[in-house]
Amino acid sequence: MQRALRIAHLYPDHMNIYGDRGNIIALTQRCRWRGIAVEVVGVQPGAAVAWASFDLVFFGGGQDSGQALIAADFVRRHGAELCAAIADGLPMLAICGGYQLLGHYFQTHTGERLAGIGAIDAHTIGGDRRMIGDIAITIDGDVLGGGEPLVAVGFENHSGQTYLGDGVRPLGRVIAGHGNNGSDGSEGAVVHHAYGCYLHGSLLPKNPRFTDHLLSLALMHAGGDGALAPLDDHREDAARAVMLERLQPPERPARRWWPIRRS
Ligand code: GLN
Repeated sequence: MQRALRIAHLYPDHMNIYGDRGNIIALTQRCRWRGIAVEVVGVQPGAAVAWASFDLVFFGGGQDSGQALIAADFVRRHGAELCAAIADGLPMLAICGGYQLLGHYFQTHTGERLAGIGAIDAHTIGGDRRMIGDIAITIDGDVLGGGEPLVAVGFENHSGQTYLGDGVRPLGRVIAGHGNNGSDGSEGAVVHHAYGCYLHGSLLPKNPRFTDHLLSLALMHAGGDGALAPLDDHREDAARAVMLERLQPPERPARRWWPIRRS
């Protein structure tokens, strides 16, 4: 029998904003619906972590002040080992403030520089402009293990502008909203099986295909074949369709830039 999936939730009390905990709920609930045992371990400041005992890592977003409280602990205590685990294929999802700390550094709008662990070749510069609102991106199918591109929706709220190094693959392309930096059309980053992005909202309840891709990777990491029984996602699909309808550019009402399926 497959052992319980183990999910590490980094700094859940400091880095949980705009419903990011909903991502943990989506992961665990979709496991339970399928009879897959799952265990979530919160990683608090000062805690040691045996990364080899985990199948998936989640790191939510937080305000600059929350990031400042945990950044040094994250880098010193976990940086080298988590980078090695990611390079070894450990699946991870990091949102906004957590994503920024996977890069080389986050420089706040007051000029303070918080070092990150450098798992992603990227850096973030805090600006005066907040990039806030609903966001839609296109994610290539191969990023999600194959199939059609996914149009994913979420909610972003950040002043940090993230710039990816040459050769770093963005998670997706912005079709409505701001994304990594509001200028180059990229959103998020993918390195091995680690995903960083600005989509709160929460990302995983709204985009169950992404959730299942992470669960599939986690199951394979735990020694399984990654196969998942299908679930009925018609409510999630309908909710996403409503948001995409709302984000439709007004100047092009006759043309849709996403496939809408209504059930
Ligand atoms: N403090 C960061 C920024 O504003 C991250 C914000 C967040 O996680 N929502 O860029």
